[in-house]
Amino acid sequence: MKIITNPLKSIDNYLHHYFQHTYYRTYFLLRKLFPKHICQGYDGPCCRLGKRRRMNTQYLNEESNWCVACDDCFEAIEAEWAERWDEYYRGCM
Ligand SMILES: [Zn+2]
Repeated sequence: MKIITNPLKSIDNYLHHYFQHTYYRTYFLLRKLFPKHICQGYDGPCCRLGKRRRMNTQYLNEESNWCVACDDCFEAIEAEWAERWDEYYRGCM
């Protein structure tokens, strides 16, 4: 049996990768130019403007407790830490 790939699907795939690549490049460039203003993202690059915020973490190196994030990503970061602390305290009891 011959598998016929949909040419439109291939173009779509190609464009998707192309834009993702451009997106990453834009992100790293922006991070380089404005390290204190570009959101570092939650689980991937985010090109939006962010603010410097204190996370709910206890790193000894105080600087590690800070991040630059936009509202949405910060919410996701905080939710994840809240869950991790929850698990941690449950493990202590
Ligand atoms: Zn963000």
